[in-house]
Amino acid sequence: MALPRDVIIAIDGYSSCGKSTFARAIARRYQLIYIDTGAMYRAVTLFALRNNIIGTNHFNRELLIAQLPQLKIEFKKIQQSEKEETYLNGENVEQAIRDLQVASFVSQVSAVKEVRAKMVELQRAMGNTGGVVLDGRDVGTVVFPQAHIKIFMTADPVIRAQRRMAELLAKGEQANFEEVYNNLIERDRLDTTREESPLIQAPDAIVLNNSYMTPEQQMEWFEALVKNKFGDL
Ligand code: C5P
Repeated sequence: MALPRDVIIAIDGYSSCGKSTFARAIARRYQLIYIDTGAMYRAVTLFALRNNIIGTNHFNRELLIAQLPQLKIEFKKIQQSEKEETYLNGENVEQAIRDLQVASFVSQVSAVKEVRAKMVELQRAMGNTGGVVLDGRDVGTVVFPQAHIKIFMTADPVIRAQRRMAELLAKGEQANFEEVYNNLIERDRLDTTREESPLIQAPDAIVLNNSYMTPEQQMEWFEALVKNKFGDL
C-alpha cells in the first residue's frame, strides 16, 4: 500500500500521547521525512532558559523576540541511530530539550505569537514539497490545513503519565509520577487555552485514542486508514 509522493500527514494531539513514536513509525514504514514540530518549540525554550530570558518568575518576551532572527534550528539524521536529531545553532540539543525543565517552560514560550510565526514558516519550508509526516499541536489547523491525512491523538492522562515515566526511567533519569502527571495536564491546559493557534481538533481530523493500543495495532489502524483513503495506489 503506497501513499501519494507529495503526501502531507499531520498528527496533532495532547502531550505525551505517543505522537512522535507514531509519526516516526509512519515515516519509517512509508519512507517519509519526519518533522517534530514540538522539538522546535523546545529548542527555542532551551535557548531562552540558557540565556535567562525565562525563569521561574520572569519571562522577557521582547528580548526573546529580538533574538529570534539569530536562532538556527535544524534536524539532522544521525547515522548511529538513524534518527533525525535537533540542532540549535549548530549544537546537538536532542537530549537537552527532553528534560522536565524545558517541558515546564515550553508552553509559555510557544504561546508567543512571533515565536509561532517563525516556527510555522520553518515548518512550511521543510514540508511543502510533501512526503512528510509532522506532529505537534497546530499542524492540521495552521501549518498545513491542506494535509491529506489529519489525525488527532488522545489517551487517558494517567496512562500517558505512566508511559512518560517509563520512558524517563529507561533513560536512567529521575522521575516523579506526580510531577510528570501535573506537567502534562498543565501543558494541555495552556496549549488548549492560549490565544495563538490553540490545540484544537481540526474538523476533518480523525481521532485516535490509543490508551489501550499497542504500536502494532496503531500501525494496523493507520494502514486501514490509508487503504480507505487512497485505495490501491
Ligand atoms: O510535542 P511536544 O510535547 O514535544 O511539544 C512541546 C510543546 O511545544 C507543547 O506542549 C506545546 O506548547 C508546543 N507546541 C506547539 N505547537 C506545536 C508543537 C508543539 O505549541 N505544533
